[in-house]
Amino acid sequence: MTLPNNAREFRLASRPEGFPTPENFDLVEVPVPTAGDGQLLVRNVVMSVDPYMRGRMNEGKSYVPPFEVGKALEGGAVGEVVASNAAGFEVGDTVLHNLGWRDYAVLDAARAVKVDPAVAPLGAYLGVLGMPGMTAYVGLLEVASFKEGDVVFVSGAAGAVGQVVGQIARLRGAKRVIGSAGSDAKVKYLVDELGFDAAFNYKDGPVGEQLAQAAPDGIDVYFDNVGGEHLEAALDSLNDRGRVAVCGSISNYNTKTPTGVRNTGLLVTKQLTLRGFLVMEHGHLREQFVREVGGWVASGELRYQETVTEGLDRAPEAFIGMLRGENLGKALVSL
Ligand code: NAP
Repeated sequence: MTLPNNAREFRLASRPEGFPTPENFDLVEVPVPTAGDGQLLVRNVVMSVDPYMRGRMNEGKSYVPPFEVGKALEGGAVGEVVASNAAGFEVGDTVLHNLGWRDYAVLDAARAVKVDPAVAPLGAYLGVLGMPGMTAYVGLLEVASFKEGDVVFVSGAAGAVGQVVGQIARLRGAKRVIGSAGSDAKVKYLVDELGFDAAFNYKDGPVGEQLAQAAPDGIDVYFDNVGGEHLEAALDSLNDRGRVAVCGSISNYNTKTPTGVRNTGLLVTKQLTLRGFLVMEHGHLREQFVREVGGWVASGELRYQETVTEGLDRAPEAFIGMLRGENLGKALVSL
């Protein structure tokens, strides 16, 4: 294959105030990089846009360093090896790595994981069988200590993580699975396609009232993707000794005035457990996750959606759209 001379990459042009805008991104032409010793040159085929990237656009200390203004953005991507100077990798291999937001990436082979395009479509390695799927798995089963017979509520239920959480709960024997999402079409998808017992559109009215209606006997587990009003409502609905996996708080990612939670007194009176987690700290469950969730995907028992935007130049649009709820299932960009 002949390589072009030039490639494109997105750089952070400026840090967003509130919701990101296209002006926060710069698409820059660069020479196609050359692979050094122990390195691979990868032509990216599909890349991920994820909520955590919004956090990395801010300045300040977090669990990963912030993106730097003027430097290329990063994120999950799957691509084809077009040059290899590393043992164990050949031209034509398909790899998962973390240098998305560009059409060609050079990386150390140690940072690439081979994936099999015959087992699943490439996007699945960034979604249901990748980081978001793993987040759902460890968050529900390990962090929230889910057990058969639990009533489970998940927010952001029609997104990459949420759509998997609800189905794992159903397949592992939940008594009732409830989801919230931001449109009627998403609510319909949850109930009609994914087998949720109940779902509601959080934009239709107070979350507390809608949740109480959907869960007349309370909930045992809350998988929190949203924070704010959702978390407060869940604390109200949780039964004694209920557990919360605090996965994210997307309702507060694009605002300078985050919504607080006023009813933390319930943590004491109901003996609740809230536990925040980062998926990368739970790698010991990876094999179990691949076996169990991979099996359900292969058998068709666990279904998933992806929203794919075409073209690297539209990656900011896909990212901003995801933050605004325009995606059903995993938000991806095909290059
Ligand atoms: P996603 O759900 O596929 O996409 C984000 C969704 O958030 C949007 O589709 C939108 O859906 C919803 N949303 C946006 N603003 C909202 C608001 N104000 N209130 C309620 N919902 C809102 O994203 P994901 O990749 O699956 O991530 C879901 C959550 O998991 C995020 O909080 C993310 O930060 C977190 N996460 C954590 C870890 C970890 O290790 N802890 C790993 C991965 C992801 P609606 O149409 O329903 O509003």
